[in-house]
Amino acid sequence: MEESKRIALVAHDYCKKDLVEWVEFNYKTLLGHQLICTGTTGKLVEGTILNKLEPEESIMMPITKLKSGPLGGDQQLGALISEGNIDILIFFWDPMQPQPHDVDVKALLRITVLYNIPSACNRSTADFLISSPLLKEKYKPLQYDYSAYISRRIP
Ligand code: PGA
Repeated sequence: MEESKRIALVAHDYCKKDLVEWVEFNYKTLLGHQLICTGTTGKLVEGTILNKLEPEESIMMPITKLKSGPLGGDQQLGALISEGNIDILIFFWDPMQPQPHDVDVKALLRITVLYNIPSACNRSTADFLISSPLLKEKYKPLQYDYSAYISRRIP
């Protein structure tokens, strides 16, 4: 990954306030990075950031809004990760509520681990991630070689 990171942001409904506060607190650090969000999270993040930024600064933080999570947004993110197009995932998933798209949530978390994507599922981990000196550096996450595993499955 390059110095400028592609950062995915997702929050379940009861966690959206938390993520918006986190973005508000960290918007200066996020400048220069690209944000990719599920639909509703993206609208909130965009509103928050546009409130904070000068018009000329907003081009320094492009925001992509995918479909809403329950309508396929989590799966879109999973596909982007598997294609090497996401560098970091911040995903505040709700530990207290079942979701209609629980299977998609599980799939996204799995693919994140599979591709060794730095990820945070709560605010304190997100604070540690965003404070890492690696955020501003090139970094190549170790990619595991699953070919032996795959070939074992073919009779
Ligand atoms: P949302 O999706 O940002 O569209 O609310 C988040 C999710 O539930 O995965």
